[in-house]
Amino acid sequence: MRNRVTTRSARAMRVAGDRLLANIRSLGKIGATPDGGVSRLAFTSEDARGRELVRDLMIEAGLQTCVDSAANIIGHRPGERQDSPALMLGSHIDTVPNGGALDGAYGVLAAIEVARALNDHDTLLSHPLAIVAFNNEEGAFGTRGMWGAHAMVGALDESDLTAVDDRGRPVAELLFDMGGDAGHLDRAVWSADRVAAYLELHIEQGPVLESRSVQIGVVEAITGRSTLDITVRGKASHAGTTPMELRQDALVAAAQVILAVRDLAYPNGPVRVATVGSLSLAPNAWNVVPGVVTMQVDLRDVSDVAIRQATSRLRSEVLEIAMRTATAIEAENQYSVPAVSCDLGLRDVIAEASESLDLGHLTLPSGAGHDAQVIARIAPVGMIFVPSKGGISHTPEEYSAEDDLIAGANVLLQSVLAYDERYGRTF
Ligand SMILES: [Zn+2]
Repeated sequence: MRNRVTTRSARAMRVAGDRLLANIRSLGKIGATPDGGVSRLAFTSEDARGRELVRDLMIEAGLQTCVDSAANIIGHRPGERQDSPALMLGSHIDTVPNGGALDGAYGVLAAIEVARALNDHDTLLSHPLAIVAFNNEEGAFGTRGMWGAHAMVGALDESDLTAVDDRGRPVAELLFDMGGDAGHLDRAVWSADRVAAYLELHIEQGPVLESRSVQIGVVEAITGRSTLDITVRGKASHAGTTPMELRQDALVAAAQVILAVRDLAYPNGPVRVATVGSLSLAPNAWNVVPGVVTMQVDLRDVSDVAIRQATSRLRSEVLEIAMRTATAIEAENQYSVPAVSCDLGLRDVIAEASESLDLGHLTLPSGAGHDAQVIARIAPVGMIFVPSKGGISHTPEEYSAEDDLIAGANVLLQSVLAYDERYGRTF
């Protein structure tokens, strides 16, 4: 029934923008909060209803739809050769508590529209398409984030399977409720030879594209991340009777540590961003010199080497601060996620797709984590960003202009066509 498209007719192909926007609104109503946000955490009844809608949309798009044992929803579209590796498109539809309607959901719904546009133009690609709504990207109720993506690459630990969430419910039970099967997670694993490439369209969740008035972001890498727990121990003492020169004030030392962390990134340091986002002090009373301060440090960069440099610089600086302030400071590495580079070939494809649509594009890193960084273990990955108003995400204020959402979906469509054209005959 379908033929390879000519390059010319392929270039003229567009997604049905109004339908995409309508579907974003429909999915956003599931779990909608009074202040305009969305709470559709994984493993909840809202998530189940959202998943039902996505399945229905996949079926409407003619996709052979299934739920794998990790409760990822997968829609298959045949290619010219069934034995060839798939071009995978996807993202997630779960949200953080009181998050926005676009984070994740946009990428899934746009991928489904890509399939529909191909159908509407009777287009048979060389590659089969696999459109995935990954389960539990956000790590609901204290579970591991990017759960479904980790399952797909076979990277779950035993502890992920035996885990109990913050509500006391075993993950195996949660999976079962969503149509998964914890006893057969091996069936959710995709080997590298089954995936030709993975493309994810997402809102930027940062302010760069908007501030430069550029519609399309070509992601060069997803930043790595390292977190440290720092404990400063001084001596709690009377705020009225302890002379300044005799104090061992843990909070004064902590203040210097916070500035040292900032200096790791700004005005110029080894890493892109460095943050102390959480801090607690004891005894935390207005008339007591603080005795103990604990804080968490978050370092991110597209280079793992840079993160290591920053970590060792911070470690030596806290020793000096401890000496100066008569305190003891411990810095303990918590966890780290390696940086992931996006595939150069896919970056080219996305840039060219943007140009063919007369859309400006900019290469930038992703500061947030995405399913793509896990799928990178089995396939080359590419990511497309569209601007986020005010750079805000994970809140009800999350917003991207309708034109930008449609433009991003068209870039995804044109990237799929260009990728298939370029790599379709080589397998
Ligand atoms: Zn997301």
